[in-house]
Amino acid sequence: MTIGLDTRLREVLGKKTVEALSEGLGLDTVGDLLGHYPFRYAQRGERTDLGALQIGEDVTVTAQVRAAVQKSFVPKGRGRGSRPGGKPRDLLEVIVADEAGRSLTLTFFNQAWRAKELVAGRWGLFAGKVAQFRGRLQLNSPQYQLLAEDAADPSSAIEEFAGTLIPVYPATAEIPTWNIAKAIHTVLDMVPTPPDPLPRSLREDLSLLGYGTALRQIHRPDSHEALGAAKKRLKWQEALVMQAVLVRRKAAAAGETATAYARGGALPEAFDARLPFTLTEGQRQVGEEIAAELAGDHPMHRLLQGDVGSGKTLVALRAMLQVVAHGGQAALLAPTEVLAAQHHRSIIEMLGDLARGGELGAPPEATRVALLTGSATAAQRRTVLDEVKTNTAGIVIGTHALLYDGVDFADLGFVVVDEQHRFGVEQRDALRAKADRPPHTLVMTATPIPRTVAMTVYGDLETSRLTELPAGRTPIATHVVPYTDQRWLARTWNRVREEVAAGRQAYVVCPRVGGDDAEDNGAGDKRPPLAVVDVIEQLRGGALSGLRLGLLHGRLDTDEKDRVMRAYAAGDLDVLVATTVIEVGVNVPNATAMVVLDAERFGISQLHQLRGRVGRGAHPGLCLLVSEAPEGSSSRERLDAVASTTDGFALAELDLEQRREGDVLGAAQSGVKSHVKLLSLLKDADIIEAARAEATALISADPELKGEPGLAELVDDLAADRGEFLEKG
Ligand code: ADP
Ligand code: MG
Repeated sequence: MTIGLDTRLREVLGKKTVEALSEGLGLDTVGDLLGHYPFRYAQRGERTDLGALQIGEDVTVTAQVRAAVQKSFVPKGRGRGSRPGGKPRDLLEVIVADEAGRSLTLTFFNQAWRAKELVAGRWGLFAGKVAQFRGRLQLNSPQYQLLAEDAADPSSAIEEFAGTLIPVYPATAEIPTWNIAKAIHTVLDMVPTPPDPLPRSLREDLSLLGYGTALRQIHRPDSHEALGAAKKRLKWQEALVMQAVLVRRKAAAAGETATAYARGGALPEAFDARLPFTLTEGQRQVGEEIAAELAGDHPMHRLLQGDVGSGKTLVALRAMLQVVAHGGQAALLAPTEVLAAQHHRSIIEMLGDLARGGELGAPPEATRVALLTGSATAAQRRTVLDEVKTNTAGIVIGTHALLYDGVDFADLGFVVVDEQHRFGVEQRDALRAKADRPPHTLVMTATPIPRTVAMTVYGDLETSRLTELPAGRTPIATHVVPYTDQRWLARTWNRVREEVAAGRQAYVVCPRVGGDDAEDNGAGDKRPPLAVVDVIEQLRGGALSGLRLGLLHGRLDTDEKDRVMRAYAAGDLDVLVATTVIEVGVNVPNATAMVVLDAERFGISQLHQLRGRVGRGAHPGLCLLVSEAPEGSSSRERLDAVASTTDGFALAELDLEQRREGDVLGAAQSGVKSHVKLLSLLKDADIIEAARAEATALISADPELKGEPGLAELVDDLAADRGEFLEKG
């Protein structure tokens, strides 16, 4: 039998091992197992003086065997009253000592044969974790290497032994790391060198290790250098495969033909003429880019990044009008009903009578703006579907409800996805599939995306950025308020009262809804996070009594949510006590203050998003982050960071540093996670960038990768099982 990466493990390993690897870790083939990399390497303990041993430390000691004693004992039963049971076990106790006469006990169970080599007088190196038993220090089942009896200079043997890197694997209760290591060793010794998926020229140019060598070295490194070289090589492979998938996807899209929507037209011109403000330089530039692409006959695939309040919606609306002016329809997909309804309101408001197509007295170029969400009544739904089908509505705004069957567009030419990270590619594609020809697509996100993430997670899109806020915006002042300081807390609520007295509004944000929350249980000895349903009652009866308070959270039904949001937007409520449902896109320019309770429960980017809800109008914004996190703690440092800058990109980089890679790539992306194991989006920007260039060159010369069958296979695999490859959590 020839063994390759596809060979099932059951053909090469014992049944119990195979089961444990499969059930606990999902490893079924030789390739799976060899791709189960160590997550760290233990160095055999530093050489430690016998006089300086600390319990729990990994150490290597040099010592001389003084005595070896064989014992036999019957293991005690576990619980009280249970009978002693089990087979008798051998225990070999070896006493070793250093030149100063300090001694240490080594214990070995059922390894009586070791007594033959651990004879009194031999010197050796002993490595293990220091434990204590009946007041004496000992090493249980240590690894060891005996020095030659006549060793003139044992120091090099000592160095080598103590320096060995021991792989430590992600393990389970069924199969501990050393058994995984054993299985991997077995397999490594059996597998012939696998074919190398990296192009030869690339390997040569960059002096990358061969695939087989890299696999051996990642599991059994000869040295730190060899391990570094192995990691570099394997990271390159991950990066190149991923970039090849993205570059291919992009190339495929560029080959498609879309409807071209010429620039200008009565509708966009009428709209621009009535804009009450001037566009920012960024809005103008990005608007140009988009207008040019819509006028071309390849579908646009563009990501628009812009900090909260940078005016993305306006950019999108101007683009939609270009499409509508030439007979096409534009759909705007929003992640929540609150946001969809808000977009609908604000777009209708911005358009004025340009949104009253078909009505008496409306300008001839006017269109209609339809809203479709899951909570529409049957009658509303029928009207909207009809407007969509007959192209009466040029602009259609909605939630997931837009994706359902039965929503038929007359001529969908442009898809706008707001707050992309809430949607997967599948959803983006489901909407795009409603178009007769590939539509133009604009994806908008307010989460600033660091460059490496843009190159990977969004790697098939062109990107634009709005970097400045519209003129006249006043910066948001952010302060951290210690929860335990009564004076500060009182001052916080007074500030809210002052804002309201001045005719403004405020938000109070809590991490939890409350009531029958699952989190109510199992909070342990820590108090559960503050909940909106409790906090609103406390504020009503106390610090904010007499003010008009509204409650908003995800568990309210849609009508109620909508009613509250409308009331708040209309100024009929002073303070909105809410969960993070207000995190994205909610736009009430009169809101000037935000109090975030238990602020340490939120991520950096989330806090930044939240505070973007205030300071959207003419008046300065204030954000107070109330937290119990003690000064100097890492939680407190995060809050201080948020307070210290309003630069969303700087905060996004910081956020990225604090999160684990998996979080960055998103929870649903099993495909990409099992693929990207070593590559770090944070630290390997240079590899990712170089791999991007390499993939672009490879695919433009050989679109099907016919000349690189090994690489092509990996690229196809990833493209096929990636599922939500491009989705961001
Ligand atoms: P984003 O979606 O990027 O967070 P919005 O598009 O919601 O931002 O814009 C926020 C607010 O700024 C809206 O009220 C919008 O009308 C206003 N706005 C947009 N562009 C400008 C501009 N150039 N000058 C002044 N106000 C603007
Ligand atoms: Mg927005």
